[in-house]
Amino acid sequence: MGKEKETASLEDLIEKAGGCAVVDGGFATQLERHGAVINDPLWSALCLIKDPDLIKRVHLEYLEAGADILVTSSYQATLPGFLSRGLSIEEGESLLEKSVKLAVEARDSFWDSVQRTPGPGHCYNRALVAASIGSYGAYLADGSEYSGCYGPDVNLDKLKDFHRRRLQVLVEAGPDLLAFETIPNKIEAQACVELLEEENIQVPSWICFSSVDGENAPSGERFKECLDIINESNKVHAVGINCAPPQFIEALISKFKELTKKAIVVYPNSGEVWDGRAKRWLPSKCFGDDKFELFATRWRDAGAKLVGGCCRTTPSTIQAISKVLKRKVVSKEDC
Ligand SMILES: [Zn+2]
Repeated sequence: MGKEKETASLEDLIEKAGGCAVVDGGFATQLERHGAVINDPLWSALCLIKDPDLIKRVHLEYLEAGADILVTSSYQATLPGFLSRGLSIEEGESLLEKSVKLAVEARDSFWDSVQRTPGPGHCYNRALVAASIGSYGAYLADGSEYSGCYGPDVNLDKLKDFHRRRLQVLVEAGPDLLAFETIPNKIEAQACVELLEEENIQVPSWICFSSVDGENAPSGERFKECLDIINESNKVHAVGINCAPPQFIEALISKFKELTKKAIVVYPNSGEVWDGRAKRWLPSKCFGDDKFELFATRWRDAGAKLVGGCCRTTPSTIQAISKVLKRKVVSKEDC
């Protein structure tokens, strides 16, 4: 499978979606709404072991809501994390593989059903599956994905070693995309870029940063420094922001537009603040679905090519985004 074909598929999807494709929403949030107990260092990855059917159900809910891209349940699924729970390497690897398979199965069965019964007013696209690769901080589960402070012992090689085997296993499982998420600093962005090159990865990827001040990476490093590294890689097809509050997004899109020619992807959280140490959401300025609907068009008009939601957003958030972003497409083609 050549790189050109894969590249075209992300670009085609963006075009088919009317210029801005819809990424799905909060995964763990939705698992919890269905009663899953995931207060655990493995977080949503715990469901890969305990309740894979529920993972598929959540993927289907996001597809029905209009998501063009499904992000897999592997964000906090790591081999060291599984090993610390007493699983073998083989078991851990097969769970990573399963995270991709579950999303692919959901996508395929949903797409079959849409083609069998095309309904008026719906404009579904065959979704792409993005394998989620959470940052090293997400594995540490100590909130450092929002501080960028990995400490003096963490260097480039250590980060590459942490990411390498999971990346290989996820790629083997056959996703359409790779989604590096909540990267908090320059060194981890560099690790991702170098690893894609060293492993000669042919699956297109995006790299998303979190941001806690609305201007810089969580480490305090400037986004220019981070994006300069990413811009040199032709393996990275999109860059952006995930799991930052929505009120930061418009200004960050404008900033990124000046710093890169790559497609821009944004999927903020609902605006509630995660207390990484206490492992709970603090009440804060929270965006409802109506606000997301309003802001999604502004984010698109500012230059985002991929828009979705992260923590605390739900299928109804994604439905609101999808409805407003695809309005033009639906009226033009009446699909
Ligand atoms: Zn999030």
